[in-house]
Amino acid sequence: MGYERQRNNIQTDTFLAQIGNHQNPMTGSINTPIYFSTTYEHPTLGESTGYDYTRTKNPTREVVENALAVLENGSVGLATSSGMSAVQLVFSQFPVGSQIVASRDLYGGSYRYFKEIEKLGMYQFVYVEDEAGFEKAISAQTAAVFIETPTNPLMTEVSIEKIAAVAKRYKAQVIVDNTFYTPLIQKPLDLGADVVIHSATKYLGGHNDLLAGAVVARSKEIGDLLAYQLNTTGAVLSPFDSWLLIRGLKTLSLRMERHEKNAQAVADYLIQQPLVKEVMYPGRGGMLSFKLKDHQVIKDFLKQLLIFTFAESLGGVESLITYPTTQTHADIPQNVRESYGLTPDLLRVSTGIEASEDLINDLRQAFEAIK
Ligand SMILES: *Cc1c(COP(=O)(O)O)cnc(C)c1O
Repeated sequence: MGYERQRNNIQTDTFLAQIGNHQNPMTGSINTPIYFSTTYEHPTLGESTGYDYTRTKNPTREVVENALAVLENGSVGLATSSGMSAVQLVFSQFPVGSQIVASRDLYGGSYRYFKEIEKLGMYQFVYVEDEAGFEKAISAQTAAVFIETPTNPLMTEVSIEKIAAVAKRYKAQVIVDNTFYTPLIQKPLDLGADVVIHSATKYLGGHNDLLAGAVVARSKEIGDLLAYQLNTTGAVLSPFDSWLLIRGLKTLSLRMERHEKNAQAVADYLIQQPLVKEVMYPGRGGMLSFKLKDHQVIKDFLKQLLIFTFAESLGGVESLITYPTTQTHADIPQNVRESYGLTPDLLRVSTGIEASEDLINDLRQAFEAIK
């Protein structure tokens, strides 16, 4: 029974479907019970059932945290109240004055957080545009490297392996935001990263109904330190949301297959559409971006869409289309974002699990209407 046996003997698809099963000898419950209890009875002075207070440890959250650790192949998994609290938790490790080297093209909320802590004089951020940029910027002064690959929204990839090799030389910690690819496509810890974070709001949850974050550490040492910090600061995932995340994870592998198939079909369609200037799709996963030849038509184009929803976020079963300039990346100053290619002609797509014909037909009729 339990994860240790499962971790060694079964495929990921099986592991996902079985999260929480075979864990409840008392009732045989297949589904993980939601433990709302905030506090737990102590058998006697100096003894504990292993659960004392829900911020420290909760039986429902523990199931999802263990599953996250297995999926990312780490030793400690933590479930947080949002992707941003996962980012904040990871950055609670470094002393004031630390230098952080980070991807230039970055989720807008992470950029905003970095700007805020930089303003307070906590850390100094160095932004780089590509793999060579990372390799050049990392030095003995670097405390940590923060990587998004592929980047959001320009979808450029870097080699985690190569960057981690350089970082290791300088004893800099490597943190990867693996929200876009999920551990089914990319396992950063296996490639040399020290810590993986997720906005579990996206693919891991998968249904646009849950705000959640995940942190997985490769070493027990870093994992225990982060667990201590999380208990201290308190941005844990609630029992109900932990259960929702378990429920979402069970179908992750089925969903990712369809997300990817749909993204490939949509990218193939967009490449040959005459109003499209450029398509950015790395060939994996369910996210892509594209640029229109004339950005003036974007408002009308979005209005015409009947199946795609014009909304922020990504990774859910419903297909979404986002305008990063005014939505996800509005907090990055215009001159900064345009300098690296995040221009007003750019749209970002998260393909859902609908039939790809319907998605393509929807795009086709919207292009017809504005041409
Ligand atoms: C959404 C997102 C975040 C922030 O996560 P929240 O769950 O919204 O707090 C961080 N990184 C990436 C890549 C994201 O897409």
